[in-house]
Amino acid sequence: MKKFKRIFIFVPIFILLCLIFQKDNFIIAKEEKLKYEENSVLALNYHRIRDDSFLDKFLSVFSNSKELYAYSVTRNQFEAQIKWLKKQNAHFLTEEELLKYKRQGEFPKRSVWINFDDMDNSIYRNAHPILKKYDVPATGFVITGEVGSKDFHNLNIATEEELIEMKESGIWSFSSHTHDLHTLHKNGDSKLISSSTNALTADLKKSNQYLKEKLGIKNQTLAYPYGQMRESKIVGLKNADIKYGYTLEERAITPDHNDYYLPRILVSEEAFNTLIKKWEGFKNE
Ligand SMILES: [Zn+2]
Repeated sequence: MKKFKRIFIFVPIFILLCLIFQKDNFIIAKEEKLKYEENSVLALNYHRIRDDSFLDKFLSVFSNSKELYAYSVTRNQFEAQIKWLKKQNAHFLTEEELLKYKRQGEFPKRSVWINFDDMDNSIYRNAHPILKKYDVPATGFVITGEVGSKDFHNLNIATEEELIEMKESGIWSFSSHTHDLHTLHKNGDSKLISSSTNALTADLKKSNQYLKEKLGIKNQTLAYPYGQMRESKIVGLKNADIKYGYTLEERAITPDHNDYYLPRILVSEEAFNTLIKKWEGFKNE
């Protein structure tokens, strides 16, 4: 009985410490307020949609760690966020509409684009049913060389069958998150940043080929792993027919943004409450 009690105490504490001290790998400039620009769209980026488990509730009660909740929201939080956006009459865009409006130079008011990086199994399990329920379109950025991987950097990645099911629902479109360049080196640079132009082009061509063959998509966009991009790498993207690239930055997209530096806002429960809910674009006129 004593032994059981000890385990009951130490296991959650150990998990909590692991989560608190895990490395922050994203390059994001944190803003206190989301600047409002009239003709713009909010690109809301998600990574994991956690289960609303007992352990999660336990950790949220005993931890004030920002890191713990910076890169994921729970299923219930996600549903509440979608409901809140619907209530504000958000105009949900597909990626195709986003790029079309950008080219035309005019976004509809209250435009929002929902997108996900990595496409792990939690997106299929927890986000997909909610998006279907509220009929909200979304884009998934796929690490095409890792589809179906059971343990990719501790992630269980969605399978090809799951991606096909999502696409056939009419809710989803998919784009590239590289084929095999989603790793972080010890110096903090992503594998994409440290690749040669030729290696980068070859990887993105492979990724585009996967999207075309398996999902019937002619891809021309890339979400940069960890939000990292450098000017010298853009030529490698152009050679692979990539015409648009997405970073992670707490700003709205406007028509005059450089096509290779389109900012997406990384959503956590805190970011949603402090930035999105207070954004002037949703205020009643
Ligand atoms: Zn990623």
